[in-house]
Amino acid sequence: MQANPIHFTKTRIAPTPSGYLHLGNALSFALTAALARKSGAKVLLRIDDLDQQRVNLNYVQDIFDTLNFLNITRDEGPRDINDYKANWSQLHRMELYKDALKQLADHGVVFACQCSRAQLQDGIYPGTCRNRSIPLDTPETAWRLITDEKELTVKTLNKGIIKARLPDTLKDFVVKKKDGFPAYQLASVIDDLHFGVDLVVRGEDLYPSTIAQLYLADVLDLVVFKNTIFHHHPLVMEGSDKKLSKSAGVTSIKYVREQGNTAADVYEEIGQMLGVEGLRSFENIITQL
Ligand SMILES: [Zn+2]
Repeated sequence: MQANPIHFTKTRIAPTPSGYLHLGNALSFALTAALARKSGAKVLLRIDDLDQQRVNLNYVQDIFDTLNFLNITRDEGPRDINDYKANWSQLHRMELYKDALKQLADHGVVFACQCSRAQLQDGIYPGTCRNRSIPLDTPETAWRLITDEKELTVKTLNKGIIKARLPDTLKDFVVKKKDGFPAYQLASVIDDLHFGVDLVVRGEDLYPSTIAQLYLADVLDLVVFKNTIFHHHPLVMEGSDKKLSKSAGVTSIKYVREQGNTAADVYEEIGQMLGVEGLRSFENIITQL
């Protein structure tokens, strides 16, 4: 039988520089690199730095150090901190995000919200400001999308086509934060379109985000994004293996590296998470996909 003739143009590795990367990130990066190799896709490094209060340049450096340590090469994206700051920070794409936000405002599908986190009910927004008609240009005010129960189509690599609705926790989700910056869901959609990403590999914990992003794409009529293929992978199980970890929980790759472990040691641990014996590099994962 012929190998599966899947082909993609581009995928991305999109870490947030708000902490040192851990084994869960390594698993996600390795799967992304392996799927890219298998499908002919280029790999873009996108550093998600819109949460400016949490961005730390040590963590940006850690992204480069970790990818280099794991031998994961990129075809596009920043080469180092200076290149990142000069050319690739999301701050350079603010106009794109603002255009999308303006479209949402013009369509009348967003409303201003002044609620605090404490006003959510079990993490669900109760629609408090929906009919308060707070002007959109009010300072320190978030924008929320008016959402309903419409059915969306999620195209996945491993589970085929899934019909889904927005989960309650993302009802009227935020598209513009109180600090004026675009929210993650909006920036992620706009970036993936901007860079021509057609394969998104991410952890299962981000499945609700996939639905929110498809919802936004539907509202903004971004047909290309609606054809993105998603692959949601299992998360690292806490305590699944203690070979590299001193204790249960999250272990940074930086720590693992500084303890004298090699990339092959990390891949071996990733292999155990995936149930694959003797993994030594991300290329070894390809035969398992
Ligand atoms: Zn509100």
